[in-house]
Amino acid sequence: MCGIVGYVGRQNAVSIILEGLKRLEYRGYDSAGVCLEKGRRLEVVKKAGRVDNLAKELGRRRFTATTGIGHTRWATHGAVTDANAHPHVSSDGKFALIHNGVIENYAQMKAFLTGKGYTFKSETDTEVLCNLIAYHYAKEPARAKGRNRFMESIRKTLHHVEGTYGIAVLCVDHPGEIVGARKASPLILGVGTDEYILASDASALVSRTQNVVYLKDGEIVHLTPKRFSITTLDQADVSPVVNQLTWSVADSDKGRHAHFMEKEIFEQPAALENAMRGRFSADGSTALFGGLNISPGEFREMERFMFCACGTAWHACLVTEHLIERFARVPVEVDYASEFRYRNSPLDPRTLFFVMSQSGETIDTLAALREAKRKGFRVMAVNNVVGSSIAREADGGIYQHVGPEVGVASTKAFTSQLLIGAMIALYVARMRDMSYSDGVEYVNALKGAPELVRQALKQAPKIKAIAKRYAQYHDMLFLGRLSLFPLALEGALKLKEISYVHAEGYPAAEMKHGPIALVSEKCPSVFFAPKSEIFNKIVSSMQEIKARKGPIIAIATADAPLPDDLADEVIRIPECHEAVLPIVAAIPVQLLSYYIALERGCDVDKPRNLAKSVTVE
Ligand code: GLU
Repeated sequence: MCGIVGYVGRQNAVSIILEGLKRLEYRGYDSAGVCLEKGRRLEVVKKAGRVDNLAKELGRRRFTATTGIGHTRWATHGAVTDANAHPHVSSDGKFALIHNGVIENYAQMKAFLTGKGYTFKSETDTEVLCNLIAYHYAKEPARAKGRNRFMESIRKTLHHVEGTYGIAVLCVDHPGEIVGARKASPLILGVGTDEYILASDASALVSRTQNVVYLKDGEIVHLTPKRFSITTLDQADVSPVVNQLTWSVADSDKGRHAHFMEKEIFEQPAALENAMRGRFSADGSTALFGGLNISPGEFREMERFMFCACGTAWHACLVTEHLIERFARVPVEVDYASEFRYRNSPLDPRTLFFVMSQSGETIDTLAALREAKRKGFRVMAVNNVVGSSIAREADGGIYQHVGPEVGVASTKAFTSQLLIGAMIALYVARMRDMSYSDGVEYVNALKGAPELVRQALKQAPKIKAIAKRYAQYHDMLFLGRLSLFPLALEGALKLKEISYVHAEGYPAAEMKHGPIALVSEKCPSVFFAPKSEIFNKIVSSMQEIKARKGPIIAIATADAPLPDDLADEVIRIPECHEAVLPIVAAIPVQLLSYYIALERGCDVDKPRNLAKSVTVE
């Protein structure tokens, strides 16, 4: 959450920062602001609302500068106001700072600084950090031997800070310099020709350079147009590793689509191809993963798997649990990362950990990973963003390889997590009891998934028409069983997050134990009804809803013998292997929530109160 961009170089920083902020806006869109260096002055322009508001204001003022910082906010401390927008300036006017994260001990520091005469214009934790830098700067000897006073004051400040931060700072006494630092919030450095861009993620800088340095926790970077240096909080020099980005700016454009979410829904066949490319054994009977860093023998020794994740990725873990237990017969536990990190659950030593996070920066998931490692467990990461904190800190992992996902509501990242989960189940199953021929059948089914998703996407016009009829309801139930129970959770989550319609996901048979009280002609139910051994049980649940006048939207496989006139709407999806079914079943619920959100006039890519990549606790 929160997008950060900083620029030093010879070009016009204003347009580069604005472009970066637009690309980072999915991370937060409560307010946006910039601070530009004008000679020995720091000019701040910041406004509540979207980056476009800020762009208009900057256009009116015709600013130019070659050094500056910009921020798009997802508020944690203090309301969404102009005053709380970043950048914040220290009360002596010397420093401007942008921040992603939460300063947990800000109240004590604020009291301390107030006692020293510092004043505050905002309610944010961030402004405290900015004034604390000013305080240390004022105390620092003007000519600290061989050291940059600007850097040193930041270093001192960060030693006193509890919480998380990705920051970029300007100082009036040090024109043409930016200092950045991170702890648990992402920060990446773009290395251009005579220019550097510091940003929360690569989308903000990929139009200018493909060369990037992923900063690590506890590192401080100092930038001028000519050079950069990285040191640790403890003053040790760091030799930077410059990586090449593997995607281009076109990957993070909407193209011909109205929204990123629409683009990403329709990209799924290609995304799935990319996620599985090169990941099957030569004999076509199992999955292969290059980056697990654990030998098949060690993997085979594991007697349990534990998955931790948040939000949509947690739903992908629940499906993975089902598939591993079903095909490999190994017990799996799934926990919310935010709960796992604090609840100190007893764990069998022969447990292998997996964490899932599209961004690889989800703070709770990162904390769960650290907690598991602290306890001596090996942790594998399933993650999309190469070089992310989670990818770096995990012992091994599997990249999703689906390109940048910008829509706040996850779609292609989710289905690729389902695919990778299905491949992990296959990998484990083939080490145990699954036969060669069952493995071949499974692999062929996975290879066929992109085509089945393509077919499911053809239902879009029909789903759009259904969405028109159901857009004005205030409540909806999503019901599914076994591997599609997590899909019911995901369907409800999608609808809630982008349409603001109250929705709940339940195992279909569980709805008798409470949610059925909601059912009336005013509360439709979306049922997953694949042909299976328990198909008749699902039909019975539908009858119970029907008997109470609840409208029914059925998502049924092509071969499911649905009784006539039971469902009010039927969306057919292709029949498929059990490992592929959740992937294909995800498509209609994604489309349904997308089209309902459009009907309700919601801002699909920037849903209220949400942001992508949840980097605050
Ligand atoms: N804590 C800061 C604020 O409320 C930054 C929030 C964030 O990174 O999401 O403004």
